[in-house]
Amino acid sequence: MIGYVRRRLRAELELPRDQRRFGTGWIAGTGGLAAAVAGLAFVVSAKFPGLFLTPELAVVTQSAWFRFVIMGLLVFGFACATLSMVLRPNKTLGLVTVAIVLAASLLGAVRMDPVGTPGVGIFFGLDFFILNLVFLGFIFIPLERLVPHRPEQTVFRTEWREDLFYYLISSMMVQVLSYLTLAPSGAILAQADLAATRSFLGGLPLVVQIILIMLLTDFVQYWLHRAFHRVPALWRFHAVHHSAQTMDWIAGARMHFLEVIVLRAVTATPMFVLGFTEVALQAYILIVYVYSSILHANIRVEPKWITPFLATPRFHHWHHGIEKEAIDVNFAIHFPIYDRLFGTHHMPEDEWPSGYGIGGHPVPKGYWQQFLYPFRRG
Ligand SMILES: [Zn+2]
Ligand SMILES: [Zn+2]
Repeated sequence: MIGYVRRRLRAELELPRDQRRFGTGWIAGTGGLAAAVAGLAFVVSAKFPGLFLTPELAVVTQSAWFRFVIMGLLVFGFACATLSMVLRPNKTLGLVTVAIVLAASLLGAVRMDPVGTPGVGIFFGLDFFILNLVFLGFIFIPLERLVPHRPEQTVFRTEWREDLFYYLISSMMVQVLSYLTLAPSGAILAQADLAATRSFLGGLPLVVQIILIMLLTDFVQYWLHRAFHRVPALWRFHAVHHSAQTMDWIAGARMHFLEVIVLRAVTATPMFVLGFTEVALQAYILIVYVYSSILHANIRVEPKWITPFLATPRFHHWHHGIEKEAIDVNFAIHFPIYDRLFGTHHMPEDEWPSGYGIGGHPVPKGYWQQFLYPFRRG
């Protein structure tokens, strides 16, 4: 394995000059790799002072600005790797760089606190998402082997790279998203007098707050989701999420960038305005990430007693089903009760859909093709 990666990496690095042109992703790939290697080396030296650097330099390596430099190198490496993977058919450089950034983040637990976020640090940084991916991978990859709905499906199924790329992009964009979401919150707070509501909700026990947030956001999400299905212009965006023909823990990450922004703004902004505490909102975001992986996962287990109360993989797989009866059903992502209330519930006993996707598969493959898809005519 290591030998194979090393050979491929070497072949990439030693490409003939005419294949390294600007725009091929080679410069971004090698630049990112260099930054990531430097970042990792600094993490190691900061972590173990005296091992690689002279003890006198510990003053430097323990300082705040040194951490800032490491952070910068790793973020730069990650950004370059992403760019390289977009531009280059050969993903070796990008993947090796991401692996190094990951290793450095895990080793140094480098905190990437949102810099310059107005007011609060609701949103997690890059390392949170990388750790999240690793953490979820440790849970879901074995689970999908142990109790699969489709045993023949592998981890590296068709389009796994595309869906992983969706995951990486959303991690990269989290800072931008936090700005986009918090800006309207500030404006609303300046307008409305919500002091009483805010102090009441913010004073509730944490668990109650989290359940309330889940109930409220799922109600809003239900109708927004339904609109994304019913309004043709919105459907073209949401169709990207439904274009997945394989369901597993990573498939849910496939979502058009604009839909992510709208969803985030429409669900998170009111919760922030209403005065739920930062901890409760953070916990909710964590729950949404884990829950989304569960819903899309290739897992067949489903405790019978839980299905009336909570959405399960089979419940959401029906939402993605290819057959006619699966069109426009099961919009809720936490509580099936909303689908029962509004007449869109579909859960035939012990049955699964025969396949996933949209009839005729109109959405093209690949991240950028899918990004442009809603804007194209026809
Ligand atoms: Zn949908
Ligand atoms: Zn889905």
